[in-house]
Amino acid sequence: MLKKILKEVVTLIAGKQAEEIVDLLDAKKHINEFVIAKKLDLTINQTRNILYKISDHGLVSYIRKKDKKKGWYTYFWKIEILKSLEFMKNNLLKKIDQLEHKIKSRETKRFYICARCNLELSEENSLLYSFTCNECGDVLALKDNTKFVREMKKTLEKLKKDLIFLEEEIKIEVERIEKIKLKERRKEEKAKIKKSPKRKTKKKSVKKKSIKRLVKKKSTKKKPVKKTVKRLKPKPKIKKKIKKPKNQKIKKKKKSKK
Ligand SMILES: [Zn+2]
Repeated sequence: MLKKILKEVVTLIAGKQAEEIVDLLDAKKHINEFVIAKKLDLTINQTRNILYKISDHGLVSYIRKKDKKKGWYTYFWKIEILKSLEFMKNNLLKKIDQLEHKIKSRETKRFYICARCNLELSEENSLLYSFTCNECGDVLALKDNTKFVREMKKTLEKLKKDLIFLEEEIKIEVERIEKIKLKERRKEEKAKIKKSPKRKTKKKSVKKKSIKRLVKKKSTKKKPVKKTVKRLKPKPKIKKKIKKPKNQKIKKKKKSKK
């Protein structure tokens, strides 16, 4: 779903032939523009033109690195998902607004048509020509907009559903960004803790050593007990040795059957 939306955005800005670029761009990692050009089977200039167009709207960002030998810059690109989604949302809101105006106009105003010339006039213009066609002289007929309005309302419903989807995607992306920020903050805090209270960590390590010593003493006491256990162990070993030849005999019997 997200990719479909991103492709729509890129198509709106740079044309249908540019939509494939969405598959090559990443949200986390910057991608070398020469890699993008190669995969799109375009020249580096064609690729840059597409990327610059999208970049004008802030929907991709870049970092650049200088080639030490050749002295020129290579750009590395990243897609800005949240900005792309917000761009799409604004575009959708405009469409919804325009359509609502159109529906209202069709529902409240009268329009006249000439069926022969396939012309449509507003009521004011029809009045100017005394309700006759300016081209052929036929009498204009009042247009029935019910079907037209019904279709526009269907489209409006679809656009509103798209908007709900889009807002859901925006919510997901905002949460993703917040999680990343939170992680970075935690990392910084951990780094601060490690740097400042050195004395406290030293004290803790001393305590740990003393505990270890106590444990060692206890463990040495236990050792003699273990020895008695060891004496008991060889006995079952003998039993096992006796069992083994039995198994071998069985195996041999099976072989002879074959
Ligand atoms: Zn006409």
